[in-house]
Amino acid sequence: MSHRKLVLCVVDSLRTEMLTEAARGGAAPTFAELLERGSLISDCVASFPSVTPACSSEIVTGVRPDRHWISGSNWYHRSEGRYVEYGSSFEATRAFGLFRSLYDIVYNMNMSHLSHEVETIFERLGDQGVRSACTPFLIYRGRTRHELGLEGLLRRVAVAASFRHATWGPDELFYGELYSSRVVDCRPTLARPGTRDEYSACVGRELVANDLYDFLLFSLPDNDHHSHKFGPEAQIESIARADAAFTELADAAGGLDTFLDQNAVILLADHAQTRVEHPLPLAEALGSQWRVLQPNGDPAGAELAVSPIARAAAVYVLGERRRAARRHAEVRARLREIDGVELFAWLSGDRAVVERDGSELRFRRGSGVVDRRGVGWEVEGDLAALEAEVCAERFDSQVYPDALARLWSALRAPYAGDLLISAAPGYELVDWGGVTHCPGGSHGALRADDSLAPLVLCGLEPGTEATREQWALCDVADLVLDHFGIGERRDSLRVHRPAGTWPAFEVGG
Ligand SMILES: [Zn+2]
Repeated sequence: MSHRKLVLCVVDSLRTEMLTEAARGGAAPTFAELLERGSLISDCVASFPSVTPACSSEIVTGVRPDRHWISGSNWYHRSEGRYVEYGSSFEATRAFGLFRSLYDIVYNMNMSHLSHEVETIFERLGDQGVRSACTPFLIYRGRTRHELGLEGLLRRVAVAASFRHATWGPDELFYGELYSSRVVDCRPTLARPGTRDEYSACVGRELVANDLYDFLLFSLPDNDHHSHKFGPEAQIESIARADAAFTELADAAGGLDTFLDQNAVILLADHAQTRVEHPLPLAEALGSQWRVLQPNGDPAGAELAVSPIARAAAVYVLGERRRAARRHAEVRARLREIDGVELFAWLSGDRAVVERDGSELRFRRGSGVVDRRGVGWEVEGDLAALEAEVCAERFDSQVYPDALARLWSALRAPYAGDLLISAAPGYELVDWGGVTHCPGGSHGALRADDSLAPLVLCGLEPGTEATREQWALCDVADLVLDHFGIGERRDSLRVHRPAGTWPAFEVGG
């Protein structure tokens, strides 16, 4: 167990080569120091879909969507008969209703949708008396009760929505206008993307200066917004701002040397980002053939629900079981014709199937081949479906990293769609507000470009970086717990799924 505190700094959408370029060119001097003194893992793999709600959940719980249950930024809630929208865009939020979305993003995501069968790092640390803190981050569930704070614009929204719930978070929880575990002289700007790193930095300074944490999750979301708007190649500017925000923490400790004497640091991204040019209006395309459930529509008459998830999507086949099985096959036939749908996957019996360009690969857990994370699989069909190769019983795909395990977990998640889609390079799904980031940046796909991002370890046990061949976001929780000498995750909890969320039918063929 280390004598140091630990800061987990999450820079949203940070690309590895943009980080190293910003460090080399002088735009990010503090991150350059972390790289110099620590070690860089350049290809830590994100969740699928590679979007912030799923990835943040994986970071904080150490498990993937089949266990933490957060399937994406939009999903269809079968038992409630409605879409859940976590704020893909302001327009999408408005399409579902501001109150409803606020409730889902801030409260339900942590208190209802995130599985209670797994524990977050804040809960594990809290149980051991380790003081935890976080700046605004989607997943914050912990052991300490916090009353609603309410300031500014969100106050008016929340009051109008009769939203007055207390929540449970780390000891020190700062969530902009909504929750603040103590009075700080920082202007919350949760509702305005692009100005949130400043708030994190301001709160972080207080936490460092007053010694209020052993573990701090320091979230810097603005790089995502900047990169969506101007494209991933423009990240240097927003990385410089993230670096400046992080530097404020170090300054509050009296300089970087003192700060790093007192704190180990893990710097990482939740996912990367790639260039997008072409909108993919999937709901509209499927809507010409089937009745697609609209935002706040009546599910009774709908045949499909469609969840656009940036560069991924989920399709839910609704209605009576036998008809649904046939419709599933018809939807697959239609997906083959839609520009921008690169691959799609589904469950068939006890196997997962992935199809791309006429090639089909079926797989399940087993002992035929082993992936780069040491997990065994039985695969049959065409490896070309994942541009994969098998060499000496080792399964690998450069194009779709950790593809089998990520698809397997995504498909078996209780709120997963009956079909999961990954978009081709350059395409982004049109969200329910009618919006994309084209031309600009986006993420969400199974591809390496969306999925591989940096993981920098500084001040952890020497040699930690060499302990895995392929790092993934789900490894981060164990790094945190190991740092504080807290053992293996407790896996004895019984897993039972929300009613009505098992795959609705068996799909043949
Ligand atoms: Zn994003």
